[in-house]
Amino acid sequence: MKVIKEISAVQDISDYFKCIGKKTGLVPTMGFLHEGHASLIIKAKEENDIVFVSIFVNPTQFGKNEDFGKYPRDFERDYHICEKAGADYIFYPDIKEMYGENSLTSVTVSGITERLEGEIRPGHFTGVATVVLKLLNAVKPDNLYLGQKDAQQNAVVGKMISDLNVDVNLKICATMREANGLAMSSRNTYLTEEQRTKASVLYFLLEKAKKMILEENISDVSEIKEIISDTFKQMTPEFELQYFDIAENKMLTPLSDLESFEGEILISLAAKVGSTRLIDNVILRKIRDRK
Ligand code: AMP
Repeated sequence: MKVIKEISAVQDISDYFKCIGKKTGLVPTMGFLHEGHASLIIKAKEENDIVFVSIFVNPTQFGKNEDFGKYPRDFERDYHICEKAGADYIFYPDIKEMYGENSLTSVTVSGITERLEGEIRPGHFTGVATVVLKLLNAVKPDNLYLGQKDAQQNAVVGKMISDLNVDVNLKICATMREANGLAMSSRNTYLTEEQRTKASVLYFLLEKAKKMILEENISDVSEIKEIISDTFKQMTPEFELQYFDIAENKMLTPLSDLESFEGEILISLAAKVGSTRLIDNVILRKIRDRK
């Protein structure tokens, strides 16, 4: 496995593999890798000849008061995880290489970026869409691997790819979880042991909402939201539920009545656990009862 720091070098390598008929995959990350990232690399290796993992903590997707400065970093550890999972190249640019001295261009996807994460983190998805397009232009992969964990990010990147005719296939991989259901995240490292245990409430509530829809046939979204919010307060009064949302899974349009809805539903939430912000989601497919 090789580490490449320059955009021009990674472009040349990618051109070479294209030229000899090899399929390439890209797994973009911000490093401090865990089994969730490894699962994306393993999947990419199954489906491609050559796998690139990018490691870049992208400053433009962090707000002023967010954790850019303290975001966990450990390149040595990441290197071994990438190697073990079967990556061929780590693309590891620094900020100057990615943005140069005077970058004036950014990519803004409207609509789907206005709610949920976009509402709480203004400008976040412009940073994400811009860096993903830049990584795609650097690595030029056939396939791009993202995790279901960041559902809104996937919707934004998917829309950017189709709106801008980017020549890449988007592959979404399942969320990897700890034994207690907590979605793996680089930010889990900020949690105390007790917070990590109690944070299992997030997945518990997503699954509870899923059961309410699929098994108890509750179709009034405000009723579901109220039950979830009350249960959250009872179980973990020390945490803060920032949003709990039920939307259709493509444009993330909020749903209010599920009675006649057919298709994929995204149930998502964000919570503050101490000073740490965690997000998670589940998707479910609803088919109308035709009795
Ligand atoms: P990050 O390094 O957090 O920016 O994540 C890089 C990629 O890994 C994104 O596509 C994430 O959705 C994905 N990812 C993060 N956590 C998980 C997880 N627990 N399971 C699967 N994929 C994940």
